[in-house]
Amino acid sequence: MPDTNTFPAEAESASAAAGLMAMPGNIDPMPVPRPTLVEGVTPREDGRTDLLGLPKKRIAELFESAGLDAKAAKLRAKQVYHWLYHRGVTDFDAMTDIAKTMRPWLAERYVVGRPEIVEAQHSSDGTRKWLLRTADAHDFEMVFIPDAGRGTLCVSSQVGCTLNCRFCHTGTMRLVRNLTVGEIVGQVMLARDALGEWPKSAQDTRFAGTSGLDDDDGEGDYTSEGRLLTNIVMMGMGEPLYNFDNVRDALKLVMDGDGLALSKRRITLSTSGVIPQMARCGEEIGVNLAVSLHAVTKDVRDEIVPINKKYGIEDLLQACADYPRASNARRITFEYVMLRDKNDSDADARELVRLLRKYDLPAKVNLIPFNPWPGAPYECSTPERIRAFSEIVFQGGISAPVRTPRGRDIDAACGQLKTAAEKKSRAEIDRLLAEKDAAMLAAAE
Ligand code: SAH
Ligand code: SF4
Repeated sequence: MPDTNTFPAEAESASAAAGLMAMPGNIDPMPVPRPTLVEGVTPREDGRTDLLGLPKKRIAELFESAGLDAKAAKLRAKQVYHWLYHRGVTDFDAMTDIAKTMRPWLAERYVVGRPEIVEAQHSSDGTRKWLLRTADAHDFEMVFIPDAGRGTLCVSSQVGCTLNCRFCHTGTMRLVRNLTVGEIVGQVMLARDALGEWPKSAQDTRFAGTSGLDDDDGEGDYTSEGRLLTNIVMMGMGEPLYNFDNVRDALKLVMDGDGLALSKRRITLSTSGVIPQMARCGEEIGVNLAVSLHAVTKDVRDEIVPINKKYGIEDLLQACADYPRASNARRITFEYVMLRDKNDSDADARELVRLLRKYDLPAKVNLIPFNPWPGAPYECSTPERIRAFSEIVFQGGISAPVRTPRGRDIDAACGQLKTAAEKKSRAEIDRLLAEKDAAMLAAAE
């Protein structure tokens, strides 16, 4: 069980990035220009710095260290930040309020990146899934689920997951590294690119409150009217509270009225129950909380959500009761995956009600039919059992809707986010990449 945010893969790539890798053999080292190392920024081969994921202050610091005076650096950072996060512009030439002479200065030193798209899939029910790749060739996924009146983007926080919940496909992945701030916010930005949802101008009426004035907490809001992407859930690959700093910084960019301007009321972070980080989530970002409870007895939760051996059910529920900002208007969601003959009895349902009442939790329960995957050790409960379970919880005064699985035909449903890359052979991936390159070349001609 990890209790640190640093993973070997990350440490390895960090040392490689810092140029500490030994030179093989007796070859004289070639004088290759080393990219400038900037804290929190992955260096690029071409020596330019990717601004994606940086807050306004860091951008200003970069501009100043590259030679602008403090006042100019602050102004340019404000302009670039707005274009980057609010308007989705990646080309400095399109930043029309920046002097024409200044734009080449920016383009020589900086880029605005996006995670690379390896594959995009569309389900027959409208769900869309993207297989994405980091600059150091790790694959992860994001999923968009359109629904009546809302569209939810399911965002990943890690490549793989160090926790091994037994019903979750992601938990079987060996490779794990934390996603960076840019890779996390980059998912939301890619989704806006794909859905064509950047405001066309500063006056775009579909955006409201970008000054932050209509939001009780001083953050921006983004009207759902006429929009596809209205909500974000941190429910993709990984445990967001094991990568809290990066998740927090990415969500701050998402919530900033001059950034992506999506209200925290539309953002939900899901955790398997990393108790020590839960309060920080409420205090530092104040997003909605979802907790993957899945069982009501120690034996069963120890088996299916092994982090329970470290942070038990009662302590978890107490942490939920203490979660800052939880209220009847902002209830905590408890996720409960329905596993046949494992956690789905009437007695389990009654115990769930008792526990949620005991801690006086403003709660709703999401009953998730188990999404099977090859080799999974469980089966989904029968529809009758799920209905009976839901009814008992509902009779106990707690709403317990049954979630309809989405995107099953493209393996996009909960727990199926194990990368296609693992299922595909290396040769297949290379072929796909070659095809993509060829298509891009053809388009460029
Ligand atoms: N690590 C975090 C967030 C990602 S998992 C967490 O565990 O909360 C997002 C949700 O999908 C969790 O509730 C998880 O329990 C659920 N899930 C995982 N595998 C599933 C499966 N095979 N069927 C149904 N839900 C699953
Ligand atoms: Fe990790 Fe969440 Fe899957 Fe558990 S359910 S293995 S915490 S992603």
